Amino acid sequence: MNQKILVVGSSNTDMVIKAAKFALPGETILGGEFFMNPGGKGANQAIAASRLGGDVTFVGKVGSDIFGRQALQQLTKENIETRFVIVDHEYPSGVALINVDSKGQNCIVVAPGANGQLQPADIDHVLSEVPQENLVLVQLEIPIDTVTHLIRKTAELGNRLILNPAPAQNLPNELFASIYTITPNETEIELLTGIRVKDIGSAKAAGSKLLDLGVQQVIITLGSQGAYLHTSSISKLIAAPEVTAVDTTAAGDCFNGALAVALAEDMGMESAVHFACRAAAISVTRMGAQQSIPYRKELQQR
Ligand code: ADP
Repeated sequence: MNQKILVVGSSNTDMVIKAAKFALPGETILGGEFFMNPGGKGANQAIAASRLGGDVTFVGKVGSDIFGRQALQQLTKENIETRFVIVDHEYPSGVALINVDSKGQNCIVVAPGANGQLQPADIDHVLSEVPQENLVLVQLEIPIDTVTHLIRKTAELGNRLILNPAPAQNLPNELFASIYTITPNETEIELLTGIRVKDIGSAKAAGSKLLDLGVQQVIITLGSQGAYLHTSSISKLIAAPEVTAVDTTAAGDCFNGALAVALAEDMGMESAVHFACRAAAISVTRMGAQQSIPYRKELQQR
């Protein structure tokens, strides 16, 4: 039996305006197209895990507004259990204002809103209600005290947890011993270890630093190169399939959701990283965040 997957994290509405250039301080410019898309690392990863075959429950906070209602509808449409999504009546739903210029560069400002109100007590409530056996996936777009509490409680229950340490921020050293798998990208691993990953040697050194702190397995995502897996018994680069990338938004989210599914199905660690690389490679061949995430049957066709 596959384990259930609990994704704890953020849900946002991305509001994107394309314009020829970015506005300067004090300037107002006319832009072009406007899109509104569901996003947030937590919701993106939950959707990836669900589309790729996981039995997913999402835990997070939204505001009592139209964006929160839409986010909940979207998650439900994706076959995700939402009974632990709390509606906050004081804070608005999280939004991200994204400007994209003519070169495709972006400038993003996130207002976390209700995401920033998910409390350790909310985690206790969820953990007392969900089945004891589950695999937990969490990122850093909710308060760090809540993440810390979740990591400790999950370890106490003897469950496995994947921490995607994004967006990059420092973590207390004593936390690492409670983490089953950590999945930093190049920026995040540098912040966590002080080591700039530029080749296999530096990836191994950075991974070893986290293993020494007590993490059981380290997976450093390396964009088009794939991912470097480092555990006490394996140390190897798993190459990404070669594809023509058109938009890498949410590649990391797709990777993490896929990894959770693979671990919940008890694939071996190396096969799990292969599976995540294959899913993320499909996502970069398509535009957008959630829209780019593949379904399980698409992986089986390859
Ligand atoms: P993030 O999006 O969090 O910065 P990465 O850029 O490392 O993370 O991408 C996450 C994963 O997505 C990579 O480990 C890889 O498997 C896949 N990926 C990203 N870019 C490409 C690409 N150009 N071609 C194939 N796979 C890619």
